[in-house]
Amino acid sequence: EPSVVWFRRDLRTADHPALLEAAERSPRALALFVLDDRLLKPSGKPRIEFLHRCLHALNDDLGGRLAVVHGDPAEVVPRVAREIGAGSVHISADFGPYGRKRDAAVEEALGDIELVRSGSPYAVAPGRVRKADGTPFKVFTPFRNAWLEHGWRQPAETDASTVDWMRFGGGTGIPAVREKLPDALALWEKFRDERLPDYDKTRDRPDLDATSRMSAFLRWGVLHPRTLLRDCEGTYRDELAWREFYADVLWHRPETARQNYDRKFDRMVHDDDLELFEAWKQGRTGFPIVDAGMRQLLREGFMHNRVRMIVASFLVKDLHLPWWWGARHFMEHLVDGDLASNQHNWQWVAGCGTDAAPFFRIFNPATQAKKFDPDGAYVRRYAPDSADLTPIVDHAVERRVALDRYQDVRT
Ligand code: FAD
Repeated sequence: EPSVVWFRRDLRTADHPALLEAAERSPRALALFVLDDRLLKPSGKPRIEFLHRCLHALNDDLGGRLAVVHGDPAEVVPRVAREIGAGSVHISADFGPYGRKRDAAVEEALGDIELVRSGSPYAVAPGRVRKADGTPFKVFTPFRNAWLEHGWRQPAETDASTVDWMRFGGGTGIPAVREKLPDALALWEKFRDERLPDYDKTRDRPDLDATSRMSAFLRWGVLHPRTLLRDCEGTYRDELAWREFYADVLWHRPETARQNYDRKFDRMVHDDDLELFEAWKQGRTGFPIVDAGMRQLLREGFMHNRVRMIVASFLVKDLHLPWWWGARHFMEHLVDGDLASNQHNWQWVAGCGTDAAPFFRIFNPATQAKKFDPDGAYVRRYAPDSADLTPIVDHAVERRVALDRYQDVRT
């Protein structure tokens, strides 16, 4: 009996434990990807375009044998599996709230065809690293230490030739793309050799091309974090640990995708001015570093980490809008948009997350710009006209408002 390898957030064939497991059961397999409206509908153009590029790259790797089918996975996966007489369906486990529900529904609909989970998008699967008393970590540093101590498996030795890929007639095909996906591994190696040694010093500078830009490849599983962890330590490894930490937090507390991790922030009073929100989204606030970041997001589906913090702080503490409004806009446009990393970084900025930045430490956009974009090159690249706009709020005034509201949360 052949098997199905159902690809989701693992769009690669190297170091692919689910592919290895499928190959061990049967020499023949069907490679399947399901275009799921639940994930596509809330996604902006750059995000969908990137997914399509990943699918083309995977399809090329598989000699043109990737079956891409549009529909509800709970209907598509069992139908395709039965059509080819598959004995099992192989996946990398998904730990997000929607992914878990979807996989449970697919498992149920598969009946006596086994759904086999092997590997995950993380070096250590969420839920694995725990305190000595079995409870989850709530603070990053002890999590990071336990995560390092736990360690991770060796890469799985797989490539496209590990199984004989079946042809499938019933797919919808992959929409055309303008550009091919670059070789993620080559980009990583270039970053590792040229930029990683200075990463500590330059990572906060949006005007320099100093970070790895690996986030989107990690999001879609084009590379597994194990590949990067092999080559790094120190600060860069810590950044990857943050990604694992937030996945762990969301796994234990799935409701924090929508709710404050720290429930005392439920008392925070928010505004709901849609005009201010729109100005923020369009990058027309009159605060140049904020506008540059928001326009980079719209143009490229990416924003530098330091600027993500600045624009998020601005939304929450200068415009007094709920963090989840901003988080939703990010998820729509970010090519690397990942529920765990996004919602929990937003909560970190908003002061209501795990080891959150203290709420009363409020970013001043002008000071931040001076420090991290000292020559104004980043602003010039994305929002050269912003300095001519009238600022939509007075930072000093809004800072006071935010601090006053915070008093009500604290007490
Ligand atoms: P590098 O500096 O090269 O970092 C290497 C890798 O480490 C990243 O690719 C990423 O996987 C991980 N990483 C780095 N910083 C963080 C962090 N703070 N939290 C979790 N992982 C981290 N990252 C996402 O991948 N998806 C998101 O949806 C996302 N939303 C964010 C929202 C806000 C408000 C903020 C402040 C940060 C968010 N981040 C998110 C984290 C971070 O901004 C991006 O991972 C980073 O900018 C990606 O660029 P890079 O790959 O060049 O990063």
